[in-house]
Amino acid sequence: MAMFKKQKKYIFVTGGVLSSIGKGISAASIGALMESRGIKVTMVKMDPYLNVDPGTMSPFQHGEVFVLDDGSETDLDLGHYSRYVQNAHFTKKNSFSSGQIYESVIRRERAGGYLGKTVQVIPHITDEIKKHIREAVSDYDLGIIEVGGTVGDIEGLPFLEAIRQMQIEEGRENTLFAHLTLVPFIPSAGELKTKPTQHSVKELREIGIQPDLLLCRTDRKLDEATKEKIGLFCNLAPNSVFSAIDVKTIYEVPLYFHEEGVDEKIVERLGIWTGRPDLKDWKKVVQRILHPKSEVTIGIVGKYTDWSESYKSLHEALIHSGVEHEVKVKVEYIDSEVIEKGDLSALEQVDGILVPGGFGERGVEGKIKAIEFARINNVPFFGICLGLQLAVIEFARNVVGLSQATSAEFDEKAEMRVIDLMDSQKEVKDLGGTMRLGAYPCEVLKKHQGKTTKAYHAYKNEKISERHRHRFEVNNEYRSKLEESGLVVSGRYVDSKKDIDLVEMVELADHPWFLACQFHPEFLSTPLKPQPLFSDFIFASLSAVQGKQVSMKGIS
Ligand code: GLN
Repeated sequence: MAMFKKQKKYIFVTGGVLSSIGKGISAASIGALMESRGIKVTMVKMDPYLNVDPGTMSPFQHGEVFVLDDGSETDLDLGHYSRYVQNAHFTKKNSFSSGQIYESVIRRERAGGYLGKTVQVIPHITDEIKKHIREAVSDYDLGIIEVGGTVGDIEGLPFLEAIRQMQIEEGRENTLFAHLTLVPFIPSAGELKTKPTQHSVKELREIGIQPDLLLCRTDRKLDEATKEKIGLFCNLAPNSVFSAIDVKTIYEVPLYFHEEGVDEKIVERLGIWTGRPDLKDWKKVVQRILHPKSEVTIGIVGKYTDWSESYKSLHEALIHSGVEHEVKVKVEYIDSEVIEKGDLSALEQVDGILVPGGFGERGVEGKIKAIEFARINNVPFFGICLGLQLAVIEFARNVVGLSQATSAEFDEKAEMRVIDLMDSQKEVKDLGGTMRLGAYPCEVLKKHQGKTTKAYHAYKNEKISERHRHRFEVNNEYRSKLEESGLVVSGRYVDSKKDIDLVEMVELADHPWFLACQFHPEFLSTPLKPQPLFSDFIFASLSAVQGKQVSMKGIS
């Protein structure tokens, strides 16, 4: 049988009018729809900023740092993509900034790679952008490429020029431009206003990009007359103008787009032959989010300054596990500094306590108190990264009796550093260089004293892989003391060739659910495949609601 090489297709997603109108979620939802039609799809994010490494950017400005298997630190859009598109393997190729593009062009220029030519934005920067896009999409049939920022920003221009050129090079039949805009309803006029959309499309057209479809973010459906008006001014058929109304949960967006006919339009326009999308799992997720059977309250104990988009994946992972158990997960933020001052009342109101990842000393004593509260009151407890380190400190202080136990992160010179840098890290002076990043294998302990461990119960597998982003480790010098006192090390990263044996998970045997992990399990959770530790933690918290203990012991 003759084999025909499938023509690669590209969808470019741009945004107009305002930032934060949901471009990442819209792009990811298109990805989910295309995947549900059986297409091999990947996603790419192009960011116009000049930072070469988003890992060093403030989470307050930029949201969470999302870590991939290969250790690249990307922005939260890669998190959205990972939650919506299940079968793509994202690597550092899937996210790049202007800074990275310029860096590679300048490096090449320094190495004499341009043979004395004048190095310019067009064609050298734009060529580099196109090369990056093509490399990221090379193993897939369809690439969805999101252009960061808003059309009209000066720094986004090279990206827009590059995608314009790609349409010429790849052919119109293989490229599609989707543009997300805002159509606000103005109460005093009693109508939807299309002018901002007209302006943003005008700007795109001035640089040679004619959008093929418009996704109009609105608070109500666009009527036919509005679609016609937008179409007329933006040079589009009205049936290429779609409403993107606010929905109750972000996981409803793929279903909503499908109802509007967005995916049908895309496959028709790109000449992709596929069957109808299989959306049954997505429907189930949305159904369960909208109609939960019960409710569980999880207290996240953190510095109040951390409560921003910086815990995006954590939040989503809790929702995913809620979906699995048909419960609504309510999150209460508990300020660790309030607990530090001795007010533990907030802890009594929640069904499960979670201490997430974090950096620095501020608020840690309050988090340690919260862990002690969870341990002695049998409240389900889940510690992540810094949460594991603090759980080990709490255990060392209050169970082993090492009252001065701490982490080298808080006191470099402390005597009892139960959490410390590995010797090999101490030699590296550059902080960035000492971070353990990306996926590492973990050996899960199946049984402890004849009983299945909580870790194995969750994973049902003795070999797993999870993503990391931290610098400090449990100090092996204290391991036997901790274990002798009852701390179960139920996960380890072992590399015997390198003589490495690190603690990855700890738990308590005689507690309903007390587990902490050194890695970040939230990065691998998706609505269609909730992460096992989150799932068991929510289940344990749910059981705690059902059999809520009457009296709670106070702690000193
Ligand atoms: N600050 C700790 C470390 O660097 C924990 C990091 C984290 O929670 N991501 O090891």
